Amino acid sequence: MDVSVVIPVYNEEECIELLCERLHQSLSQTNRAYEVILVDDGSTDQTWPKLQACIERYPHLQAIRFRRNFGQTAAMSAGFHAAEGEVVVTLDADLQNDPDDIPRLLARMDEGYDVVSGWRKDRKDPFVNRRLPSIIANWLISRITGVYLHDYGCTLKAYRREVIRDVHLYGEMHRFIPALASWVGGRLDEVVVGHHARQHGQSKYGISRTFRVILDLITVKFLLRYSMGPMQMFGKIGLFFTIPSLLLFAIMIGGHLSFLLFDTTLASELVKRPFWLVSATMLMFLGVQFISMGLLAEIQIRTYHESQNKRTYVIRETMPPTVVGAR
Ligand code: UDP
Ligand code: MG
Repeated sequence: MDVSVVIPVYNEEECIELLCERLHQSLSQTNRAYEVILVDDGSTDQTWPKLQACIERYPHLQAIRFRRNFGQTAAMSAGFHAAEGEVVVTLDADLQNDPDDIPRLLARMDEGYDVVSGWRKDRKDPFVNRRLPSIIANWLISRITGVYLHDYGCTLKAYRREVIRDVHLYGEMHRFIPALASWVGGRLDEVVVGHHARQHGQSKYGISRTFRVILDLITVKFLLRYSMGPMQMFGKIGLFFTIPSLLLFAIMIGGHLSFLLFDTTLASELVKRPFWLVSATMLMFLGVQFISMGLLAEIQIRTYHESQNKRTYVIRETMPPTVVGAR
């Protein structure tokens, strides 16, 4: 199998037939062995019966039906698990992405890339609640992950299957796959793709998605940067608090001693004011909290890696291919 196309579908009854037809048109021209996996994410309208009818008609289609709505990321994840193609292409069911762009993505993949991301340069969505948050989100995600892409939110992307085989998707994470892929040494590229206004049905998202994406971004950043050594991060914050606290305590104790021994008023300002005592104590509490969180997280990630036999590194290839125990 060369290509698996994975499509999350949630209450898109008006789009299904046209979608399947358009996919058939553009994929049958590519001369590649392909399959299309449609994942019905617990639709409550006529989506599933329509999918069934399409499967009768087009031999390359398969469908998976969830028991309830688990979200777009979960739907894509199910598709990834079922996919058998060397390359996995994702796109939306609502035809906002253009199936005719798939061959261009595949051609770019042939040049040796591991992820080719669609870029909706001329995006047909409302500005205030869609394009503006998206511009900010793309800038933020690029800055924080260090992987610069114009359009993280575009579902139309192609992945080499071995790259996504090991990524586990939670929350809104599907949009971060390029960053995760780049982190395991994947090569990334972008291709400008077409975009259309939604013709049928409604968008499933509101502005609240922005916040979910930002929270997931924090998780991803943590996983990217610190999952191998959380103490490095928590410990740093902890030291940032404990060191000034220790200094303050030292000065106060010094002040007290000099007051007792020499009856001087040296540093008595610092000693008399409760502000400094409270600050020093608070800082110490904070610092100790962070350092112990770091230690707990260190224990956690050991469980995480060892319970799933996860390696702390990623191998591209070995010579000969069967080097024992490397994978
Ligand atoms: N979708 C899904 N589960 C959900 C929400 C959306 O599978 O809970 C699918 C939806 O059917 C579509 C894609 O995800 O194929 C993108 O959704 P939508 O078009 O509503 O998002 P937008 O393009 O407005 O960002
Ligand atoms: Mg859409």
